[in-house]
Amino acid sequence: MNLSKRLKIFERLAQAIPNPKTELNYRTPFELLVAVVLSAQATDKSVNQVTPELFKVAATPEKLLALGEEGLKRYIRRIGLYNTKARNLIALSKALLERHGGQVPRTRKELEALPGVGRKTANVVLNTAFGEPTIAVDTHIFRVCNRTGLAPGKTVREVEEKLNRYTPHKFKRIAHHLLILLGRYTCTARAPKCAKCPILDLCEYPAKCLPASSPQDIDSISAGQKLQDRKRMAGRQG
Ligand code: SF4
Repeated sequence: MNLSKRLKIFERLAQAIPNPKTELNYRTPFELLVAVVLSAQATDKSVNQVTPELFKVAATPEKLLALGEEGLKRYIRRIGLYNTKARNLIALSKALLERHGGQVPRTRKELEALPGVGRKTANVVLNTAFGEPTIAVDTHIFRVCNRTGLAPGKTVREVEEKLNRYTPHKFKRIAHHLLILLGRYTCTARAPKCAKCPILDLCEYPAKCLPASSPQDIDSISAGQKLQDRKRMAGRQG
């Protein structure tokens, strides 16, 4: 895909999604970090259902640590993998207090050194809490980038590297949220809603579902009709 098409895709998405932002509820970088850790293999919706009560009692690393692992589990047990997540969040709070004075660090290296924090979580925190132009690749973004041809790759890391290399600079800060929202609501895993997609004409996915009135569809219908005609003629001649 060439640069001008990439630019058009981001312009179109920015127009269609005027205020792209995370759907996780949070008030501080620490709350965002906790919410992102909880969201691994869980929906943002399910995380938002438990965090209001949790943040009432544990909005800082000190308070979360004071809850203890068992106490924390009582708040997050509706979320998948809550045992591991509780263990990681307690260790994470302890590390924040010991190494960073209770603050969330602002560098990838320091973030990734925290328990339960991988590259994706670090990218989300750097981008969403601190406004860095990082692009975290999750399952939605991986799918969208491969389908559209925007940044095809066999691994999450390959897709992320291509996005970093090819995303027009002015869209780097919002690219993560534009692509995640497109993947979550339009370019869904099953039955993508191509007819309603703002980048339908730019997308290179061969299996995209075209609306009946689109020129491509009309072309394919007429090609099908020509084939039928040819078969009919051949039948008459035979
Ligand atoms: S046209 Fe279809 S396949 Fe392409 S990005 Fe849009 S929804 Fe996804």
